[in-house]
Parts: sequence; structure tokens; C-alpha cells
Amino acid sequence: MESRKLGFEESLEKDVVLTNRCVGCATCVVVCPLKCLEYHHGQPKLVKECTSCGICPKVCPKYDWSWPHVEEFVFGRAQKADEDFGIHKRLLLAQATDGKILSRSQDGGFVTALLSYALQKGVIEGAAISGIAEDKPFYPVPKLATTPEAILEGAGTRYCYSPNLLALREGVKEDKKSLAFVGTPCQIQAIRKIEMFPLKKFTSPLRFTIGLMCTESFTYDGFFVEHLKGKLGLSLNEIEKMNIKGKIIISLKSGEATSVPLSETKQYVRDSCHLCSDFSAELADISAGGLGLNGWTFVILRTEKGESIFNQALEDGALKVRGVNEEPFARSLLTKLSKKKRKNSPRN
Ligand SMILES: Cc1cc2nc3c(=O)[nH]c(=O)nc-3n(C[C@H](O)[C@H](O)[C@H](O)COP(=O)(O)OP(=O)(O)OC[C@H]3O[C@@H](n4cnc5c(N)ncnc54)[C@H](O)[C@@H]3O)c2cc1C
Repeated sequence: MESRKLGFEESLEKDVVLTNRCVGCATCVVVCPLKCLEYHHGQPKLVKECTSCGICPKVCPKYDWSWPHVEEFVFGRAQKADEDFGIHKRLLLAQATDGKILSRSQDGGFVTALLSYALQKGVIEGAAISGIAEDKPFYPVPKLATTPEAILEGAGTRYCYSPNLLALREGVKEDKKSLAFVGTPCQIQAIRKIEMFPLKKFTSPLRFTIGLMCTESFTYDGFFVEHLKGKLGLSLNEIEKMNIKGKIIISLKSGEATSVPLSETKQYVRDSCHLCSDFSAELADISAGGLGLNGWTFVILRTEKGESIFNQALEDGALKVRGVNEEPFARSLLTKLSKKKRKNSPRN
């Protein structure tokens, strides 16, 4: 690991931003103590002279990254060769018992139900999640949710990038003492690097993280504006829900549905997603994904923290569960998609 303190320009700008490896997670922007960086068009931008404090390169998930090193920190060991989707304790299928949550959520409503439960039990004061922009349908924006209603409003998946670390920053700024974080695998990686640094200001309120399984995310201008609106003539305001089950299934408010083959969407995948090797958010306390299931969330419990909050929610009736053996297709898809993504970039 690097010991000399490096500035933004000689580290992240040169080796991450200019090489198109920046995922746009905003972690460097969030941790910069002197606010030298701002988030512009999905990337960090230097807005005043960098003092070379050396913090941003230490927390970037795309700079000086070592899987064994971070796994050792999180799990006390590096993963074994046969742990295709990372170190874990248990696999389950989960569903929210609250019908309102289930109907608004992406898959089984597990993420929303767990956050809502944790908030109502006082385990957390808020959650860093993704909301939706008021003026752009399906455009995700980071959101600090501090009520069950706000958590419910954020339910569902937006398949574009949402830098949820900006919502974590808001929670810290508002002096919240206990927070949950929901994000994509790259964002969970960033959180772990912040913990390793450590920057306690951001990590001491963190009670648990939920990582969303992720093959890729799309550019809004490309997929939504150029393809759905331009080529397919869909009115974006008319879209009720979008889910990926072998193809992109688009449910319209009229009750009709249409679909887009995944092969037609590849051109809109964000550049940095092509370099990502983490499908299942391998470093999260809990990982959640749809994996072709209908109305259930595939859940991976990875850490004691994750298992503990999950067990509490289950015992108190916020969730119901089934065994993964009942859905062998989902279990094998998890392995398949994880292996496929690991081919994107070799692991050190
Ligand atoms: C970009 C993206 C790609 C995905 N790709 C896959 C995939 O290939 N295979 C798979 O099995 N699962 C994938 N998922 C996960 C899946 O869509 C569901 O999020 C997951 O199954 C949990 O479902 P749920 O019903 O429990 O979640 P819900 O209860 O609906 O909660 C979903 C949570 O995700 C948050 N969220 C929504 N959009 C974003 C976003 N863009 N960035 C960060 N947080 C967000 C919401 O704020 C909410 O808290 C993807 C998710 C995202 C965000």
C-alpha cells in the first residue's frame, strides 16, 4: 500500500478518472476534508487547490485495491478458491410480510422491509438509499431516508447509477448516530476502505450495509432517453416498473408490458462497469438480488452484524423466508453471474 501522501491530481485523476475507471461513487468527494472536490456529471471535479492530504486515494475502490487485504479486514480471512460469490454465512430467500412494501418493491421487498424494521425498532435513525428525481422519471438520486414512508418511497430499482455515499455524508452532517447504507458493490467496497482508513466520522454511525447484486448500470441519456424514449417511443412518465429477468421487462401504468433484449442495452452500459469483478456485493454485511425470482429476494448473510439484524427482523415477523434449495435456478445463476463478472478484471 502507498505510504507517501498523494494529491487528487497525481493519484485519482491520473489513474482512475482519466483512464475511465472511475465508478462515480463520490467517495473522494465525500471524504475530502477541505471540500476541494465536487460531484459533477457523475465524477469528481477539483474546484480548488488540492492540499495533498492523501485521503482520497486511500478510500477509492478503484485505486490501490487488494481483495485479500480488504477481506482480511472484513472477515478475518481471504476467500477460498471455491467461494465463487464471496465469503458468507447463510443463503436465504426472503419476502416482506407487509403487503404495501411487497407491492412497491423490486423483488421480495426484503431491503425495504429490513430498513423499515430497523428504523422502527430504533436500530437506525436513517438510511442512505436511492430516491427518484422529481423531474426525471427513473433517474436515481441519493437520499437520506429517516421515516418508514421515505424508505418506502425509495423502494424499487433504478438501473442507473446513484451515488448513495452522498446520502451517507448528509446523515453524518445531520449528526445521525446510527445509519444503514444501501448500495451497489462498488459503493460497499468504498465503505470498507473508509472503515480501514479509518475515517470514524463516517463509519462509527454505520450499523449495517446492504449490497445490491449488480451486473451493470446504464447511462440515463443512453438507455432512457435515446433508447426507450427515442427508439421505442415510450413516454418515460408512463413506466410503472422495470425489472431484469433474462430481458428488461417494462411494465406500463396502463397495465401493458413490453420488453427489451439485454443485447440491445449493452451499448448503454457505463464504462467502469466493464471493469467490475463483483456481482454480489461480496463485502456487504448482507447482499440482496433478484436472480430471476418472482416476488422474492435472494439474500446472502455475510457478517455477524448482517445476520443479527436479519434474525431480529425475522423473529419479529417483518420478513418471511424460504430455503434456497427450493429455487435451484437462482442459486446457479448467482454462481454463473459472479464467475462471469470476475472475468472482467483479475483479482489481486
Ligand atoms: C443498478 C442495479 C443493477 C442490478 N442488477 C441486478 C442483477 O443483475 N441481478 C440481480 O439479481 N439483482 C440486481 N439488482 C438488485 C435488484 O434489482 C434488487 O435491488 C434486489 O433484488 C433487492 O430487491 P428488494 O425487493 O429486496 O429491494 P427493494 O425493497 O425494492 O429496495 C431496493 C433498494 O435499492 C435502492 N436502490 C434503487 N436503485 C438504486 C440504485 N441505482 N443504486 C443504489 N441503490 C438503489 C432503493 O433505494 C431501495 O432502498 C440490481 C440493482 C441495481 C440498483
